[in-house]
Amino acid sequence: MFKKILIANRGEIALRIQRACREMGIQAVMVYSEADRDAKYVKLADEAVCIGPAPSAQSYLNMPAIISAAEVTDAEAIHPGYGFLSENADFAERVEKSGFQFIGPTPESIRIMGDKVSAKQAMIKAGVPCVPGSEGALPDDPVVIKRTARAVGYPVIIKAAGGGGGRGMRVVHTEAALIHAVQTTKAEAGAAFGNPEVYMEKFLQNPRHVEIQVLADQYKNAVWLGERDCSMQRRHQKVIEEAPAPGIPRKLIEKIGERCVAACKKIGYRGAGTFEFLYENGEFYFIEMNTRVQVEHPVTELVTGVDIVKTQIMVAAGLKLPFTQRQIEIKGHAIECRINAEDPYKFTPSPGRITAWHAPGGPGVRVDSHIYANYFVPPNYDSMVGKIIVHGDTREQALARMRSALIETAVEGIMTNIALHRELMVDAKFMDGGTNIHYLEEWLSKRQR
Ligand code: ADP
Repeated sequence: MFKKILIANRGEIALRIQRACREMGIQAVMVYSEADRDAKYVKLADEAVCIGPAPSAQSYLNMPAIISAAEVTDAEAIHPGYGFLSENADFAERVEKSGFQFIGPTPESIRIMGDKVSAKQAMIKAGVPCVPGSEGALPDDPVVIKRTARAVGYPVIIKAAGGGGGRGMRVVHTEAALIHAVQTTKAEAGAAFGNPEVYMEKFLQNPRHVEIQVLADQYKNAVWLGERDCSMQRRHQKVIEEAPAPGIPRKLIEKIGERCVAACKKIGYRGAGTFEFLYENGEFYFIEMNTRVQVEHPVTELVTGVDIVKTQIMVAAGLKLPFTQRQIEIKGHAIECRINAEDPYKFTPSPGRITAWHAPGGPGVRVDSHIYANYFVPPNYDSMVGKIIVHGDTREQALARMRSALIETAVEGIMTNIALHRELMVDAKFMDGGTNIHYLEEWLSKRQR
């Protein structure tokens, strides 16, 4: 096992990884930007290295600075967390070429899955069901593009091969608008992602977002840890996640989970990963794979009892997965609310000094957050400042626990979206379960203050 790991991230996930290291008896090296100098997890680290000024481009995205920090501290491995460099194949490659272990899949796996066209082709080959659409990238020929769209059936969605974070997508309803849409998306994709390739998919009208968590070691052992429903989204950003997904027949999910495991074995996948699907009318359609730990991983940890971050570290160290599929059992129900430093009505970011913080507690309540009273939320990064996650024997019990946890939670000095979560936890449709990816936006448009 590693003796020392460098954590190349910030905020709650940096603290989450640090906790896993401490439990495993591994020393944790934190890198931090000048804006995060006073963060408690930086002070709590065994060692800490400043890697640059506040802007991410000069700190958390600064590959040479991160690799030299690993060199000067003698770390053996680098955990990238999520966001920042976590899905950057070049970074993974540089980490390994510099003699460190990257805690994640191989650079090749990241590269294949980072390009949505090649990811989809790999999934089709592995027998994972995908959204019907173009076979690979769209050509330039307008005649072929129109023929493809007719075969797929309108509405279609044009998506950038290199897209991410909900950007680089355009929905097209009629043939008249098609060619212009393809050209504009190509131009935007070239400028934003350095790759003008686009592809076409059928646009599903009212799907849910359901994803499968997997863990694999380098000996072709792989397991799936159930699913998560992340349909409660605003602007393609997840707001609430839960496991299991309400109302989907277990048999159907098991079939998909087994396909994901088979795909991992086929592509030689290593580490934690998530297969994201849209689910509509009883069918699953693969949209993309995330080759890293996800924000919402705790809901899976609570229903399976598996520590995903610790397992990531174990398999990166070359150990075998410590459990088999038969040992994975889903117990009860878990819900996560993302707490953002933002106006709960207008959603504008609300960075600044936290003057008071009271965390919730009690049976089945978990808080993953790096904040504390007198912590300054820097304006430079994502507005998420923590997550409240609850577990119950049933979904009803989990909902009740979340309501209680949200009543207890107090954050002063900045605005947060806690008020939004309190409203959603008593919303009749959400309480029924199974809302689609448009529900939250529709709800917000009708919301009364
Ligand atoms: P990103 O990497 O930018 O998150 P995804 O491929 O995961 O891109 O898609 C993001 C979101 O866009 C999905 O969660 C869904 O809301 C919507 N979307 C993507 N593809 C389709 C599709 N074929 N039909 C309907 N909605 C889609």
